[in-house]
Amino acid sequence: MFDLVIYNANIFENDDADTVAINKGRIAYVGKEKKLESACSLDINGKTLLPGFVDSHTHLLNLGLAMNRLDLSQCRTRTATLEKIRDYVKNSTSKVIVGYGWDETVWGERDYLSHKELDFTDRPVMLYRKDMHMAVLNSKAMEICGRTLEGGVFSEESLREVQWLSKPDDPEVNAALRLAGDKAASEGITTVRDIMEFGTMGAIKSWDFPVRVFGALYDREYAEQDLTNRNWWGIKIFLDGSIGSRSAAHCGWPKGNLKFTDEGLRNHLLKFWKAGLPVAMHAIGEIAVKQAVKALSNQKGHMRNSIEHFELVEPEILQEISNSTVISSHPNFLQWSKSEGLYENTLGSGWFGKDNPFRIIIDSGKKLAFGSDTMPMGPNYGIDLAINSGHSMQRIQLHEAVRAYTEGGAYLLHMEDCLGKIQPGYMADLVIQDEKYMEDTKNIGAMKPLATLREGVFTFSSTEFQEVP
Ligand SMILES: [Zn+2]
Ligand SMILES: [Zn+2]
Repeated sequence: MFDLVIYNANIFENDDADTVAINKGRIAYVGKEKKLESACSLDINGKTLLPGFVDSHTHLLNLGLAMNRLDLSQCRTRTATLEKIRDYVKNSTSKVIVGYGWDETVWGERDYLSHKELDFTDRPVMLYRKDMHMAVLNSKAMEICGRTLEGGVFSEESLREVQWLSKPDDPEVNAALRLAGDKAASEGITTVRDIMEFGTMGAIKSWDFPVRVFGALYDREYAEQDLTNRNWWGIKIFLDGSIGSRSAAHCGWPKGNLKFTDEGLRNHLLKFWKAGLPVAMHAIGEIAVKQAVKALSNQKGHMRNSIEHFELVEPEILQEISNSTVISSHPNFLQWSKSEGLYENTLGSGWFGKDNPFRIIIDSGKKLAFGSDTMPMGPNYGIDLAINSGHSMQRIQLHEAVRAYTEGGAYLLHMEDCLGKIQPGYMADLVIQDEKYMEDTKNIGAMKPLATLREGVFTFSSTEFQEVP
């Protein structure tokens, strides 16, 4: 007697089966049996069944806050952005106006927002750029923070000094996390590795959450707290900034963009490794990528460390990546890789079509885990970009992209024996997708998951899909 049986499924990478039976949250049977005894059964009529997605790099709190505060990510012009800000200020009673997601490259411009454009109100305004490595503050906000910078533009270190201004209170945190968790489930995600501050984990653990969350704690937040709890994965370290904020460690950009010397990094890493904690190393520019690969090649233990973003990659460096290093990259970042896009405009033609070289990474046999960095969250969108890229160094096949978004993350989390595949013994984390998912590869970005199950329980279902007793 099973808890749930799913019939007529088009199962990912399995032509010999169309039935999946679930017991106590685990997959108990995969085959062709037509009549199994079960408490519940569901005929999905040839729809596609994938393993639940693992988003290996999220920022749930920021995602939820953006949904609840001022979200500028959908504004396509500077004028529309400023209009939305004015409207929001008019209708909001918040003492501090905090917004997210503006991106001047989406407007086809190079100039960031400036404090002058935000000085129409006497309330403090703080607006994060899409990459979260930069924010613009209006004059009131700068006055409160006691710090004035040209244009009101704060990035990296200077941003960290004023970040307290946008800190949410507990009810705001809880509401934001709830929204973000539901959003993740609606995108077919069942597990995330979230980059977070220490307090966020407590808020997540206090209710049963729609997705399984493993935390990577910012290194600056680490004070030898006990992170041995299974919910903690490890530590996030920054080696450089971002391309959009021009703070990446990229040849020809300021040397100071690289935050560590090789020696300083080695000592920093040893502290965490001695505590049994793997590290997620943010490296975007080719200089940081090289430093990350070299630093991690010394770690020969069972711990799995990751290099995050991994954008400007000189192919030769791939050979030096150790077996315990996982490349944690974001297919959705290809949105900036198009002709006349942010990367071409910022980096010049030398790197055009060569950033985020997923084809070469996979061919090198290295471990690749996909995530979204919540820009935006949504595996279907990222997978679409990776399989339809116009550049041969980036373009991969659909099954490879799905594996990177499932098995890849499971490997990173050291859970490859129970997560990321549709096989007996694995956790019953599943996404039901459109029946054309594996064929209509030009349209995956527009497809929305129909239902998501985590350990056999629905965490999301569109109106079309409800459990049928
Ligand atoms: Zn990062
Ligand atoms: Zn991130």
